[in-house]
Amino acid sequence: FPNKNLIVVSNREPYIHKKIGSSIKIEKPAGGLTSAMDDVLKITGGTWVAWGSGSGDKDVVDNKNRIPVPPENPSYKLKRVWLSPSEVENYYHGYSNQVLWPLCHITPERVYYRKQFWADYKKVNGYFAKAILEEADENSVVWIHDYHLCLLPEILRKENPKLTIAHFWHIPWPNWTVFRISPQAKEIIKGLLGNDLIGFQIPFFVKNFMDCVTQSIEDAEVDHKQGIITYQGHITRLRAFPISIDFDKFNAIAASRKTDIAIRKIKKYFGITTEAIGIGVDRLEYTKALIKRLQAIDLFFEKYEKFRQKFIFIQIAVPTRMREPYLSYKRAVEELVAKINKKYSIGTWKPIIYIDTKIEQKELAAYYKMADFAIISSIYDGMNLVAKEYVASKTDEKGVLILSEFTGASEELEDSILVNPYDIEQFAESIKIALKMPDKEKMARMSILRRQVRENNIHKWVVSIMKEIAAIAAIKNEKC
Ligand code: UDP
Repeated sequence: FPNKNLIVVSNREPYIHKKIGSSIKIEKPAGGLTSAMDDVLKITGGTWVAWGSGSGDKDVVDNKNRIPVPPENPSYKLKRVWLSPSEVENYYHGYSNQVLWPLCHITPERVYYRKQFWADYKKVNGYFAKAILEEADENSVVWIHDYHLCLLPEILRKENPKLTIAHFWHIPWPNWTVFRISPQAKEIIKGLLGNDLIGFQIPFFVKNFMDCVTQSIEDAEVDHKQGIITYQGHITRLRAFPISIDFDKFNAIAASRKTDIAIRKIKKYFGITTEAIGIGVDRLEYTKALIKRLQAIDLFFEKYEKFRQKFIFIQIAVPTRMREPYLSYKRAVEELVAKINKKYSIGTWKPIIYIDTKIEQKELAAYYKMADFAIISSIYDGMNLVAKEYVASKTDEKGVLILSEFTGASEELEDSILVNPYDIEQFAESIKIALKMPDKEKMARMSILRRQVRENNIHKWVVSIMKEIAAIAAIKNEKC
């Protein structure tokens, strides 16, 4: 952005300082988005505003709560927002993860709402606004991420109408019948209409958002064709930008000799000698539908006895948000894994290897590469990056992607085997299809999938959003 000061805003920070004894260790959370935005800010300079969640975060900032990053070669500022433990409970674990998350993933029975959740959600959005306004000038472009900060755009707009404000919504957006369950549905939507641009993963979520605005805000004008909303004289543009991964990075790691060595080590460690391997990589998250996936595997082994001992399924399930309902979900998944393993194991073979620790992405590439198929079973998912990472890691093209049709990724990855995770019979059948698919067909499908992900990578995603923001900023400048 020529002459623009970029401010990226997210709940999670790109660098965490952890206190270990008397020293400080810096951690960089894995994830395509963090590293993509980090790359952008390294070039443009600017500021990243985020919650300072590390035990050593307060020890390293200046008197404006900032620290230059990346540590090895500082090129932009990380500005931290401090939250008390009860604010973290109410704003993050409460309103964000127990109201907005389940609603947007159409699991309203999981919604748990308390008055204090909303009170602190509002308060924390206010803290973020204050931190941003301390850094912003009238030329600033503010790029907000995700569902933790819905009220922020409206607050910022009121305080400084000259700011260009964009928001990327990483998770799905549901229809009004579901979204209206939030007691604050209208306030959330109004908050978001403070943006100049809102990006969603797929056009369907754009449509749902426009429908929600039409249903809830009488004096908003919605141009469904153009994806433009005018509310109180302010224009918000809506567009779909399907997020992606760093294809070249995964492809290069997977193609390396180190990965082949890692594969041999993993096979040896787990004693894997089967002809085929399946893989699942997920946060231990109810929307990923691990139970449905396990039920499909159970049914598969029940129906097709001859495949017993022929294939093994590796499930990497990383514990996340460790409180209810996640604790119960974790128990249910683990019990089902144990039940299936007990039911079918023969000699040293058991059908499922269950790994409940986080694996670094470099090693993850080895798991992806050695798998003959991957299963993604989400009941609803904004995109699902694991699907794209699997594709990028299958350098030999001999892999099949079994993908829930309820993921954003399914719109692009049409050459996968699309499944409805609720249809256990069809799901079990898809495993058989994957296992029996001739190499020629696998490779034909995988090469199309790989082209798709290679072309529509994370860099293209960043550039297309930044172009759109720059165009909007130019229009606003002209008006000024
Ligand atoms: N991931 C990881 N290590 C693990 C499991 C997952 O680094 O052990 C990463 C994975 O590589 C992917 C992300 O976590 O980039 C999961 O993203 P996805 O969009 O699939 O789901 P989300 O967890 O964001 O809902």
